[in-house]
Amino acid sequence: MNLKDPSLFREAALVGETWIEADPKNAIEVNNPATGEVIGRVPKLGAAETRAAIETAARVQKEWAARTAKERSAVLRRWFELMVENKDDLGHILTIEQGKPLAEATGEIVYGASFIEWFAEEARRVYGDLVPGHQKDKRILVMKQPIGVVAAITPWNFPNAMITRKAGPAFAAGCAMVLKPAAQTPFSAIAIAVLAERAGMPKGLLSVITGSAREIGAEMTSNPTVRKLTFTGSTEVGAELYRQSAATIKKLGLELGGNAPFIVFDDADLDAAVEGALIAKFRNNGQTCVCANRIYVQDGVYEAFSEKLAAAVAKLKTGDGMEEGVILGPLIDKPALEKVEEHVADALAKGARVVQGGRRHALGGTFYEATVLADVTQTMAVAREETFGPVAPLFRFKDEADVIHQANDTEFGLASYFYAKDLARVFRVAEALEYGMVGVNTGLISTAEAPFGGVKLSGLGREGSKYGIEEFMEIKYVCLGGI
Ligand code: ADP
Repeated sequence: MNLKDPSLFREAALVGETWIEADPKNAIEVNNPATGEVIGRVPKLGAAETRAAIETAARVQKEWAARTAKERSAVLRRWFELMVENKDDLGHILTIEQGKPLAEATGEIVYGASFIEWFAEEARRVYGDLVPGHQKDKRILVMKQPIGVVAAITPWNFPNAMITRKAGPAFAAGCAMVLKPAAQTPFSAIAIAVLAERAGMPKGLLSVITGSAREIGAEMTSNPTVRKLTFTGSTEVGAELYRQSAATIKKLGLELGGNAPFIVFDDADLDAAVEGALIAKFRNNGQTCVCANRIYVQDGVYEAFSEKLAAAVAKLKTGDGMEEGVILGPLIDKPALEKVEEHVADALAKGARVVQGGRRHALGGTFYEATVLADVTQTMAVAREETFGPVAPLFRFKDEADVIHQANDTEFGLASYFYAKDLARVFRVAEALEYGMVGVNTGLISTAEAPFGGVKLSGLGREGSKYGIEEFMEIKYVCLGGI
């Protein structure tokens, strides 16, 4: 690996104040999904190390919370700057462990860092309230305080940004964090922990625990010192963590699966809709929870849209993310590839047709061709489950009521998108979609300034924005008497 600063690639976990190097006899191997090569190892840790990290976090958090918001803000600002200064190396590490093309990986670093920047700013704007008293001699004060020790569990699809979205508001609020990154992508997490130290973050405020997900998760959820669990991943695991957290009544932040509809009305600008669909569907090779999973196209523009989309998709180059010009990397692993294959086979068996792609890629490994399917219907697996791959299924609809019904006919409710020009329709549809987020005439909605999150089985709470920091705070009511 050719890094400008090789010390950013560390085969170790951070438990409280101590780095634990990977012992080859008891380590987890991390593979490059594009080549299958082992890129390094991280320690296989469990409940004991998680507990130790939580204990240290509880101690250090008090000192961190006692600092002024401006002091915390300065450390976060420095952390943000270091991420941006090292974006090439961080992007490189991200690509070789996750697979996304280098330009996209570096883009994720800048995007991920923007959450640290944003919350460095928000740290100083946590306002309480002074409420008119209910009796003449009383005054009501509302103060906001950090919730305490936070546990975080993050996925492999955004190995940097899914961490910074949680760490930014947690540290800004005055919390400590014990993090378990995904087993497939621990090195991005470790690299930003190295930078956190360099930024002057107190030792022990952030731990990065690698190892058994089940054991680490069980300790995080049962340990009473942990007051909040923030998780991004599948609905299945999210529900399990929710159950496990019940006994200790933790606050939960859950960013779970989606099944995003992408609707093209007949008054849409078709070229813009194709461009939006490419971003919403094929970003990260279709492996994001806000990826368009179902593309609904109105009758009158169905053929024109599918031709334009297929032509654009045919130009997307698939390959190793380290190669120049590659737009689509490999899928993360074999089960991911098999799921994509199953969804395509199921759709074809039930009457869909391939417009573009539709097979494993000639490159082998976990590469799959960028695919467009037409004549897709609600009875197919792609209508109900997240495909999480480079497959764009095109559904046909007649009118607005029909498509709103189909779009909402899912247990998920994260992102949704539609393209239309009529202003009244824009309001009607935006209000009718049962989703936490709606992109209108755009396929890219995530940003530090906006509240990201879902309804229904897509989760609890919001990340980013002025609302995001509230999730890491408790409200305290102080009643002042005898005035
Ligand atoms: P994905 O489909 O994105 O891999 P998962 O929900 O399986 O989604 O994984 C998201 C994160 O949750 C990863 O860090 C993974 O290691 C972790 N995880 C998976 N199972 C458990 C579990 N039983 N307890 C705690 N964490 C888990």
